[in-house]
Amino acid sequence: MKVLVLGAGVVGTTCAWYLAKAGHEVTVVDRQPGPALETSFANAGGVCPSFAGPWAAPGMPLKVARWLFAAHAPLMLRPRMDPHQWRWLVAFVGNCTAERFACNKTRMQRIAHYSKACLVALRAETGIAYDEGTGGVLQVFRTQDEIDGGARAASILQSFGIAHRIVDADEVRQIEPALASSTVSIAGGLHLPSDETGDCHLFTSRLTELLRQRGVSFQFDARIERLVVDGGRLDHVVTDRGLLRADITVVALGSEAPLLLRPVGLHLPIYPVKGYAVTLPIDDDDMAPRSSVMDEHSKVMITRLGNRIRAAGVAEVAGYDRTATPQQCKAVETVVRDLFPAASAGGDVQNWAGLRPMTPDGPPYLGRTPIDNLILNLGQGSNGWTQACGCGQIIADIVSGKPPEIDMEGLTYPRR
Ligand SMILES: Cc1cc2nc3c(=O)[nH]c(=O)nc-3n(C[C@H](O)[C@H](O)[C@H](O)COP(=O)(O)OP(=O)(O)OC[C@H]3O[C@@H](n4cnc5c(N)ncnc54)[C@H](O)[C@@H]3O)c2cc1C
Repeated sequence: MKVLVLGAGVVGTTCAWYLAKAGHEVTVVDRQPGPALETSFANAGGVCPSFAGPWAAPGMPLKVARWLFAAHAPLMLRPRMDPHQWRWLVAFVGNCTAERFACNKTRMQRIAHYSKACLVALRAETGIAYDEGTGGVLQVFRTQDEIDGGARAASILQSFGIAHRIVDADEVRQIEPALASSTVSIAGGLHLPSDETGDCHLFTSRLTELLRQRGVSFQFDARIERLVVDGGRLDHVVTDRGLLRADITVVALGSEAPLLLRPVGLHLPIYPVKGYAVTLPIDDDDMAPRSSVMDEHSKVMITRLGNRIRAAGVAEVAGYDRTATPQQCKAVETVVRDLFPAASAGGDVQNWAGLRPMTPDGPPYLGRTPIDNLILNLGQGSNGWTQACGCGQIIADIVSGKPPEIDMEGLTYPRR
């Protein structure tokens, strides 16, 4: 089958891998000059199924109200005259009940663990290297409140059968010895040994090379302008470089997808949630993280990617602006300097911002739509690197007419 994949982020490119493997003739289209140059470029690098869960949780509306208009907070709302932002927020708040949280968490756990297994298999099959690490993630707590929150998180992990260990301050320093130099005191932690790390951009770029060797065609620098539907089927895609036609089209356009899908009658409640990242060179290996540390206090994740440190965090519901505001990047960098003060002299700090394609409930939208030959692979939010391989395999199975290997309940569009 001729398949068009719209979007060459980690989600679209990985999907192309599984489609090509299933024997389809695949073309990937993107407006950027190469793969993974938007949200998949500089994320926190965590492949963390243990963490996968919705942001819409009991107590969250109150926290957001408290953080409203703060200069620096883990989640910030910048209200706009945008009805889609308000619709998304109302749906988000509606998912903040204990019942909805439990349901959404179960759905996200299902796809995230499946996806990690797919990534491990892809790595074994191809030998792809992407500054990956298999040393797990250590969540660190500074206060008793955070330790108590960690204990609640541990009981949820227990109920999902996820490997984890609550550790005291000494054990924190055994797992990540460089934290002995932290200028902020660390009271304890939660270790998630089975989570992984890796550079999402490097992975996607190397996968693109492998796809080219398999005959997959990439059309970069091609802006998609419109989808044209005729008689309940997608007839063609209009780009600034001409028209494209295929038997099946997969939409993997991240945060921008709703803008192209609304005119053809698909109203997906996906909204961009902006995050910031900094990348620093490691100057003293022993003073840098061995694997990945999630600072619960600031919600900043600090990950070793080869000879670099990547730190990312902050969530701003502020529309489609992608500016890497220096103050927000500095706030993220400060967390690195506090926890790992001697890791990087910091000559060359790269600032970045990206837009997480967030659904209000948390899980992505995967699979068929009322438009016969149009398939969604969207809304992976803050877990797109973690979920990309599993989502790609599922889409390839659907295109090939095979049942996906996991239960698709709650992962399709529309849903309750
Ligand atoms: C600060 C931050 C930290 C994060 N940390 C993690 C993490 O640790 N672990 C994790 O799993 N996830 C993390 N994420 C989330 C993850 O990065 C995203 O979920 C993932 O990158 C989304 O991938 P995507 O392919 O859907 O989107 P994108 O990478 O944005 O890809 C969409 C593609 O569509 C193209 N496109 C859009 N519109 C058009 C158009 N009109 N014409 C042509 N092309 C178009 C874009 O150029 C882009 O290449 C983080 C995100 C942020 C912002």
